[in-house]
Amino acid sequence: MTLKDTDKKYILNTYKRFDLLLKNGKGSLVYDENGKEYIDFTSGIGVNSFGLCDDVFNEAVKKQLDTLTHMSNLYYTEPCIKLAKLICDKTDMNKVFFCNSGAEANECAIKIARKYMAEKKGASCYRIITLENSFHGRTVTTLSATGQEKFHKDFQPLTDGFIYSKANDIDDLKNKITDDTAAIMIECIQGEGGVNVLDKKYVKEVAEIVKEKDILLIIDEVQTGNGRTGKLYSYMDYDIQPDIFTTAKGLGSGLPIGACVVNEKTENAMVYGDHGSTFGGNPVVCAGAVTVIERLTDDFLNDVIKKGQLIQDILEKDSDIQVTGKGLMIGVKTEKDISGIIQKCMNNGLLVLSAKDKIRLLPPLNTPDSLVIKGANILRDILLEN
Ligand code: PLP
Repeated sequence: MTLKDTDKKYILNTYKRFDLLLKNGKGSLVYDENGKEYIDFTSGIGVNSFGLCDDVFNEAVKKQLDTLTHMSNLYYTEPCIKLAKLICDKTDMNKVFFCNSGAEANECAIKIARKYMAEKKGASCYRIITLENSFHGRTVTTLSATGQEKFHKDFQPLTDGFIYSKANDIDDLKNKITDDTAAIMIECIQGEGGVNVLDKKYVKEVAEIVKEKDILLIIDEVQTGNGRTGKLYSYMDYDIQPDIFTTAKGLGSGLPIGACVVNEKTENAMVYGDHGSTFGGNPVVCAGAVTVIERLTDDFLNDVIKKGQLIQDILEKDSDIQVTGKGLMIGVKTEKDISGIIQKCMNNGLLVLSAKDKIRLLPPLNTPDSLVIKGANILRDILLEN
């Protein structure tokens, strides 16, 4: 039996895999079982911020592996303390809860919002407004938060209390807020929903309404966070400050981590015993994540914006190709068959993603310009083929 057949036999059927077995990689290049090289414009779905097998990341992780791997949250360990302080210092937030994925980070945010608002306004104040077309995770509660019917249909009953509003429609949002509304939860750029950038005016109005109504603003930075959009966190482009933000993916740069980050208002909502995670704050993962946050300097983030612009310029020059997104979170509109384009890219040595009706590009943030240009041109040629 080939490895691929063994995978089909023993791994649950939840992923539609490409016919590609990957063996190794370095930076923004990855190689298959036959040694064929691919430029990686996926970074493991926005995870490998500094590419594959990055020297700085690997050194920190290996050092921690040889020092202390895991001892649980019953004890203090240095990497998670360092990481929490770094994140708070850079975001003006107060405390962090570490977990292992984006969905878990959002679960934590939802629990905090429910508890905080129940204590403040009463037990009936538990409803959270999210946006149509959003994506917040696959656990029963986070898929209930997700405003896409297709994720709901086979998993009823959903967790009660989520209401979906139209993105960029402030009147719709206002109409949906009641005395039972605890929070509004948004992605500033909807990732899985199709790389849809929310209007600045809308997001600022949402932040104002939240203050006016004395409810909470939760920003899901799972995909947009950690430099992906050219800001440390995407909300920083909107002149707003959330009460809670969640992140994951790129923070771990290849290892699993999630973080729920809270402000002064919500930092004491949870008390001993309210929440926990066996692996959350794991020293090895946190040691790697520290190197990620430390390297996301202003200069580095400006470079992310430049690389994103380079891709956009190559794709849009003298063509009708339209690009959405920010920094290195890019959506490419096309009328053509998405899976056909992805396959052609693969045949030509480029790995790309999809998001709804778009090709989605999430290259490692430090992809050299030469590979950015080469990858963008491969995609452009395929998109412009007759
Ligand atoms: N939130 C957003 C915005 C995401 O894009 C994702 C994953 O794509 C999640 C939450 C869920 O993250 P995870 O797959 O790590 O649970």
